[in-house]
Amino acid sequence: MDRYGSEADCVKLLFQARWPNGFSCPCCGHTQACTVTTRRLPLYECRRCARQTSPTAGTILEKTRTPIAKWLYAMYLVSLPEHGVNAVELAARISVAYKTAFAMLRKIRLAISAFTDAERLSGRVQAGLTPFQRLYLTARELSEEHPRPVVTSLSVDERGQPRQVKMVLLPPNHLEHRCWLPIGQREFQDRFVSSDSASVSFAFSSLLAYRHCQALIPYHKAAYRWMNDTFRGLGTRYLQSYLDEFVYRVNCGLRGQSAFDSLVRLSAGVSLSA
Ligand SMILES: [Zn+2]
Repeated sequence: MDRYGSEADCVKLLFQARWPNGFSCPCCGHTQACTVTTRRLPLYECRRCARQTSPTAGTILEKTRTPIAKWLYAMYLVSLPEHGVNAVELAARISVAYKTAFAMLRKIRLAISAFTDAERLSGRVQAGLTPFQRLYLTARELSEEHPRPVVTSLSVDERGQPRQVKMVLLPPNHLEHRCWLPIGQREFQDRFVSSDSASVSFAFSSLLAYRHCQALIPYHKAAYRWMNDTFRGLGTRYLQSYLDEFVYRVNCGLRGQSAFDSLVRLSAGVSLSA
């Protein structure tokens, strides 16, 4: 909040994330614009085609009535290592209604998921099944709920250093008798592993039994702990987006990237791979 004290500073940050090389009209590509300042957020009016563009148009912040400073603070909380934030905590921290906080987090996670989903593993890849279940269950819930199998995967470079993590909810038809079916493994590889990866090794069932996949266990444990502590449970509906958020922070750390800066760029609709 100190760094981006005023709404004008926040708009400036968003502008820079969206147009790092200066303004470019989304309609005609012209780079000259004049700024219309009569509204809450500035509008950039193209000097060639006169189209007016808001800094939030086409981003997850489009048409928001919540101040940009509150959005940036939400992104900051989401980006904290091993932290993350739930809607109750966010609502209290930035003084918005629970519904607003929930919708903000949902949109931030959508931007994260779109990015992580497209990201492919490269290098030496190992993948195995890890069960996920809510920790805080009543006896009845415990008897009714089955752990959801999640594929936890990791790629390491030629020196064995972790490079990238991916966690994907396993489709039910890829599992039989607690084993990951070969068809599911092939699909995982086709979808999430880069074609130039050096090697891929799979653990067919719970990865604890597989010596070559032991490096995955700390990531699985950390994700499990974080989700249960932050959300007091894992609704399956949003489980994949929580996994994506967790993996996103871990991968920013492994790349030595600031998760906050990356998240602002993602939210402004800029591809991070560019
Ligand atoms: Zn234009």
